[in-house]
Amino acid sequence: MKDTAGAPSRTERSRSASTAGLVFNIQRFCIHDGPGIRTTVFLKGCPLNCLWCHNPESQSPYPELLFYSNRCTGCARCIRVCTGSAVSMQNAPPVHLNRELCRTCGACIEVCPAEARAVSGRWMTAEEVMAVAERDRRYYNASGGGITISGGEPTLQLDFTEAVLNLAKSAGLHTCVDTCGFARWNAFERLLPLTNLFLYDLKAVSPELHLSATGVDNRPILDNARRLAASGAEVLFRVPVIPGINDSPEELQAIAAFLSGLGDKFQVEVMPFHRLGLNKYRALGRNYPLENTQPSEQSTETAKQVLSAAGIKLV
Ligand code: SF4
Ligand code: SF4
Repeated sequence: MKDTAGAPSRTERSRSASTAGLVFNIQRFCIHDGPGIRTTVFLKGCPLNCLWCHNPESQSPYPELLFYSNRCTGCARCIRVCTGSAVSMQNAPPVHLNRELCRTCGACIEVCPAEARAVSGRWMTAEEVMAVAERDRRYYNASGGGITISGGEPTLQLDFTEAVLNLAKSAGLHTCVDTCGFARWNAFERLLPLTNLFLYDLKAVSPELHLSATGVDNRPILDNARRLAASGAEVLFRVPVIPGINDSPEELQAIAAFLSGLGDKFQVEVMPFHRLGLNKYRALGRNYPLENTQPSEQSTETAKQVLSAAGIKLV
């Protein structure tokens, strides 16, 4: 029940404040996650497994230990405090981490002088998240910014996302939700009244390509995109252009045809491929599937030309 149009009631606010979610980062002063200067809240857990994901620590819905082995000096402090026997050393540094035995208790992080270890994922209440976001209110006011919930996939922690948005709305902040679109439609129905702008990723339209590149069927994503577009919501569609994956002329034209079919009121942002997540894959003990793929200005420019030629407005 709402006090006034769009504003959550006192009961809703109090319930929202104590709702907890697993957060892996809160980044202040963001300028690429919606209008103005924003605080972006990154949630753990994603139903997709994109080959190019630059936030691999976002994918698992559980806390994870990152170990930057190149920083390890071999002081062995982590070995001494680890009660799970998850750390060992052979003959020389770096130490070896047995992820099967690690409980992500964080004890080794406290003692590591080299800052070689970190846990990704911390339980926070919506109220705690808002306390961070509130610090930069004057910048939001001056720039037209606000708070963005990203991930991972925000709809995977729907109660928490809704709770943070409830509090943000009550506080008069502009709200964005950055989504991959892979969710039941009723998740969007719950977020619609609380969200000023959806940042909606569209990675591939061809079903086989989407499945092989992300691990999931794209039908729910395309259906939700159509329904969101028809709902009157503000949506900025974002297309990551990945060399060798979705930058063929056929796929770019399929993406352009889908987006132009949603109507002419939506803007689209082309997102160039980058490799900034590489070190995080290593720190998670995982291989980066696109280790040998290089950024390509040519691919990005071609994508922009194809979308523009279809009458799509680019940001
Ligand atoms: S997080 Fe805890 S269990 Fe895991 S390696 Fe460090 S001390 Fe051991
Ligand atoms: S505490 Fe840090 S620097 Fe020391 S052995 Fe462990 S990971 Fe390496």
